Amino acid sequence: YAKTSGRNQYQFFSKDMNRKARSRLELETRMRRALANDEFVVFYQPKVSADADKIVGAEALIRWMDPERGMISPADFIPIAEESGQIEAIGTWVLWKSCQQNKAWQDLGLNPIKVSVNVSARQFHSRTLMDSVVDVLDRTGLDPKWLELEITESMLMNDVDTAVRKMKALRDLGIGLSIDDFGTGYSSLSYLGRFPITTLKIDRAFIADVDTNPKTAEIARAIIGLSRGLNLEVVAEGAEIAAHVSFLRDNGCDTVQGFYYSRPVAAGDFEKMMRMRVMAHS
Ligand code: C2E
Ligand code: MG
Ligand code: MG
Ligand code: MG
Repeated sequence: YAKTSGRNQYQFFSKDMNRKARSRLELETRMRRALANDEFVVFYQPKVSADADKIVGAEALIRWMDPERGMISPADFIPIAEESGQIEAIGTWVLWKSCQQNKAWQDLGLNPIKVSVNVSARQFHSRTLMDSVVDVLDRTGLDPKWLELEITESMLMNDVDTAVRKMKALRDLGIGLSIDDFGTGYSSLSYLGRFPITTLKIDRAFIADVDTNPKTAEIARAIIGLSRGLNLEVVAEGAEIAAHVSFLRDNGCDTVQGFYYSRPVAAGDFEKMMRMRVMAHS
């Protein structure tokens, strides 16, 4: 009995694996075409100053408009792009697009803002990241102070010395560096002082219940205090309701991002928001 069931289980497992491998391979192939076919779009989500409700920045978030499957979330394809190596081409495209867009907004005379671009682990470690950033800034004419890269703690921890060297070189260009999803990685606080960063971005896990859970609130306050003590800008992601925003404002968080103000939107819609003097909530 055990043997039969074992074999059945094996067959079931193997069929399942096959199906997964096939659909994954298919996704990889489609992704390769997607770049050439212009199926990727960059959406922008406002970062708003907590004290004045003004847009001070935007996070660039990629979207894949697949003609057959509709919109595919980056959570579903970025990890595959990372493993298959396509992330380098896609990441460079996002960087290029975001800087070009930001420069275009400035040329329209809109209030200048900082655009933050997510960088994946493989991209961060690639030898070409530095050259791409230099090239994009040079060719778009965007002042480096209006560009920030978002990286996560975990991609810095394998080889801290190399990571610090890389970060310093990027900072020397004049761009900002943010630690994304702060508090969820496995970095040790002792490294925080060594990283030449400009911004800490509190993960939305700490924001979701700041208004109802006193312990979460205390942790969020501690991260804000830590950022201020280290002279870093502090951004909260995932603020969804008025109570989150008022908590953050009352506790000295500079910048707030979340569905409360707006979901990520296409460039044209973002431009309309930039033309409003203050952000209404969504
Ligand atoms: P992330 O960098 O932490 O980006 C923030 C995510 O939180 C975005 O999801 C955003 O839509 C979502 N978000 C913002 N405010 C709220 C809120 O109030 N409530 C909730 N529930 N969610 C909120 P998105 O756009 O689906 O992106 C998911 C992840 O995919 C990003 O997480 C990032 O890790 C990755 N990603 C997105 N675009 C890129 C890209 O161009 N390059 C790379 N390497 N990764 C990207
Ligand atoms: Mg991010
Ligand atoms: Mg994040
Ligand atoms: Mg996140």
